[in-house]
Amino acid sequence: MLKGIQYKIVLIFVLLTISIITVVGSFMLVNIVNFYNEEFSVMMSKVFNDDLVYQLEQYANADNSLENVSTAVNSYIGPLGLDTYRFYCILDLKSGNVLKSSDSLLSANLGKTDNIIMAMSGLRGDLANTDKNYMDYAVPINSDNGGYIVYIRDTKEELDSITNNVLIIVLQALLLAVFTSVIIGYLLSKTITVPIITLTKRAEKLATGEFDSIEPSKENDEIGRLSNAFGYMAQELSKNINVVNEEKNKVETILQNMTDGILAFDLEQKLIHTNPEAQHMILASDLENLTFDSFFKKVDADITFGDLIYMKSETDPERQIEYNSRYLKLNFAPIESDGKIIGVLVVMHDITNREKLELSRREFVSNVSHELRTPLTTVKSYAETLLDGAIEDKELQTSFLSVIIKEADRMTRIVKDLLTLSRLDEAQTEAKEPDDINLQMLLEGVAEKMYITAKKKNQEITYKKINDVAVFKNDRDKLEQVVINIVSNAIKYTPEGGKIDIVSGKAYNDAFIKVIDNGIGIPKENLSRIFERFYRVDKARSRDTGGTGLGLAIAKQIIESLGGNISITSEFGVGTEVVITIPA
Ligand code: ADP
Repeated sequence: MLKGIQYKIVLIFVLLTISIITVVGSFMLVNIVNFYNEEFSVMMSKVFNDDLVYQLEQYANADNSLENVSTAVNSYIGPLGLDTYRFYCILDLKSGNVLKSSDSLLSANLGKTDNIIMAMSGLRGDLANTDKNYMDYAVPINSDNGGYIVYIRDTKEELDSITNNVLIIVLQALLLAVFTSVIIGYLLSKTITVPIITLTKRAEKLATGEFDSIEPSKENDEIGRLSNAFGYMAQELSKNINVVNEEKNKVETILQNMTDGILAFDLEQKLIHTNPEAQHMILASDLENLTFDSFFKKVDADITFGDLIYMKSETDPERQIEYNSRYLKLNFAPIESDGKIIGVLVVMHDITNREKLELSRREFVSNVSHELRTPLTTVKSYAETLLDGAIEDKELQTSFLSVIIKEADRMTRIVKDLLTLSRLDEAQTEAKEPDDINLQMLLEGVAEKMYITAKKKNQEITYKKINDVAVFKNDRDKLEQVVINIVSNAIKYTPEGGKIDIVSGKAYNDAFIKVIDNGIGIPKENLSRIFERFYRVDKARSRDTGGTGLGLAIAKQIIESLGGNISITSEFGVGTEVVITIPA
């Protein structure tokens, strides 16, 4: 199959051959025709020299002149080249009529040719008739009795047959040349196209990223060298691409594992890159078709794309937003390439924990001050009243002083609880040997200890085990402290005549303790915050009962430090159930 460049090369070869053969053939034919014409006139002028003309004029003047002239011309058959296609005539000089001819058939329609007319006027008719289908020569022979014209004519048939033969030879040569040029052209074109095809295949491999499979060319011609240069280029390209890939992978890995979210925007504000953390931070509904201005306007970041790209008034702009229940710190930076800004990078840092911690710290400080100020105010106002004269009244004095003592006790309790919490926060618990805990015995003891307190409110306190819990190791005192705390809450928040049940048992690998009361219960909306420090459902009631609002916070922290868990379920007005689980 001749395709592409191969086809063109073969075509060029064929056209070149045809042109050469055509030019050479035409040149040959023209030369042959010219040679034939020239040879005819040279031959004639040689034969009809002055001597022969003089001799013929002698014959023409003598008797029997026509016969003699004819015989004399006849004797020059050879030198004149007379044959089937060339003949002679003797014409009358005045009229130009044929008097005698060597070929009567051919001389029948001679006509008055230019050369005959010239001879009739006494000149030698030797004009070359290249455009006619004959050649002729007319020699005037003057005599006293009128004179003759010796006329030689060639029908050019011999020339035609020669030119025909030459034409056939030229055509045959043309055919042969076309055939050989197709073959040579094909073979030659292959030496060019094969390396080009190899080079093309290499380029195709390169395009698909197969850099390694390119072998060097053995040829040392221009295409071979081009091919090798190409291979070298591929190698270099492969090296560079590997370096770029490595760098890209490094950056990719860093971005993937960053704890900060990354958003990259192009100049059209379209999001072009995010990392998993950013996808985690930003809602899927917002991530879809996210553009810079629309998103940061929506989250009130007070920054526009234009600010970053054109004005650059702020260096390292930083913003803080609240988004999807998180606090995010945003840092913006333009992305530059070759000194031109090509986009914007946003780094998002989740500061929710820090903010929450700060908030709870502030809340805690304000709570502590409030909790301590309330008893202090009471103490101060009672003391002042005493000073103002109430001290004189014995009854008032006793009552006021007992209030002062009660408030001082409350402050002591708060400070004690705060210290406990602080110690728990810093895990400042002295490392002591774990005790053997017999849960049944521990809970029976708690029920006994709390019996008196419950009795004061006419409450019934019971303990029941669902199943046995084998002795296990943990901090006995701490566990007891928590259970007492929970049971006292149950007593505190259950009205007179209520019922408190302590239940224990084992489920899977854990021991569980349930403290169930039929007290006032906790409204649903307060349940989630019940373990927070100083959180109380009804502050006044809690204060009246001597509560600090720290009991459950301490209980939770202790139980978690023992490896367990504490939870509360409650129904307002129905009762509360506290469940403690601990590994056993
Ligand atoms: P306090 O010192 O006020 O009792 P706690 O941390 O022990 O503080 O309890 C926090 C709050 O939880 C209490 O103020 C009370 O409102 C509520 N609470 C705790 N236990 C019970 C319970 N068994 N029944 C109803 N409310 C309870």
